[in-house]
Amino acid sequence: MVNTIDTLEPTTMTILPTYQCTAACKECCFECNQHRSGRIPLPNLLSYIDDACRSFDNLQMIVFSGGECFLLGDDLVSAVQKANYYKKKVRCVSNAYWAINKKAAMARLEPLIEAGLNELNLSTGDEHQEWVSIKNVINAAITGAELGIQVVITVEGSKEARFKYQELINHPELKVFFENSPVNNNIKVIENVWISFHENKSFTYNENAYRTAGTVKKLEGCSNIFNNIVINPREEMISCCGLTFEHIPELHNGSLKTEKMKELYFRQFSDFMKIWIWVDGPESILYFASQKNKEIIYTGEYVHPCQTCVLIHNDKKVKETLLRYYHEKVNDILFRYTLKKGMNDSIFSTFSK
Ligand code: SF4
Ligand code: SF4
Repeated sequence: MVNTIDTLEPTTMTILPTYQCTAACKECCFECNQHRSGRIPLPNLLSYIDDACRSFDNLQMIVFSGGECFLLGDDLVSAVQKANYYKKKVRCVSNAYWAINKKAAMARLEPLIEAGLNELNLSTGDEHQEWVSIKNVINAAITGAELGIQVVITVEGSKEARFKYQELINHPELKVFFENSPVNNNIKVIENVWISFHENKSFTYNENAYRTAGTVKKLEGCSNIFNNIVINPREEMISCCGLTFEHIPELHNGSLKTEKMKELYFRQFSDFMKIWIWVDGPESILYFASQKNKEIIYTGEYVHPCQTCVLIHNDKKVKETLLRYYHEKVNDILFRYTLKKGMNDSIFSTFSK
């Protein structure tokens, strides 16, 4: 749809080397579990890191997630080492199954930190704790912090959650660490909305979690698309690391087994919908569709943009409406794309000085 446009560059690459996991959380966005097989072989993993680091000058961080990336064992250490060779920041996302005690946590983290790991993200909450004890998460977090890396613990957030943010920060061992440790700033605890991917299940949230259009809250473009490229275990390149990307075929750019990363990345800029998502975000697009077609109801009851992104890509009525009326938005979106890109470039050049 769009022929010539001044393109962006990604700052982050997220590698999902496997969808296998030691847990099987009911609402896992990728339906990971112990029985999922398949992973990116080490030589390919290393060559994708080479390819990305040589292709994109602005790339700053490489994230290893999953599934459970610690299942890669020594291969994870090699991949972290490769990312560090290019002086990229490295983050691993894990459920901490390996941290059964401090000694075990040390045994896994030390080689990774020596290889260049800067940040550890851990996830917990009701569903995670059916598989991995909170004790593991605390062992991993405190060990990582004491070894000098930044640790972020994300807690599943919903009104129904029994284990909440407060329970974690008041956990006796973590409380002592926060009160007494000289490196207590190395652990951050956050809560993220935990969404359901099943029709027969839904969560409710506090009022401030809801995003609306046009009135009370300002909706923003998706900062993830174009910015955070993803490689999934099938070695496909995807436009973003949104929770729902496996449900949106349009975000799959193609196979890295047959095409170069750079070609797959830059081809996206001929897709107006992706540019629109980057500029306005999926909720604004849904709101626009609802203004054009009264059969489309914009409820405003959306807590996560990736939920709405599935809707605008998969709902037949919304898709037909957007196809019919998108041309009304083209000039406005391309104009605001140029403005936003200009701001983006100047922020990036300030930070890279
Ligand atoms: S720990 Fe993470 S990757 Fe594993 S099943 Fe749970 S949500 Fe999915
Ligand atoms: S809103 Fe859409 S494009 Fe953005 S991260 Fe979520 S799924 Fe990806």
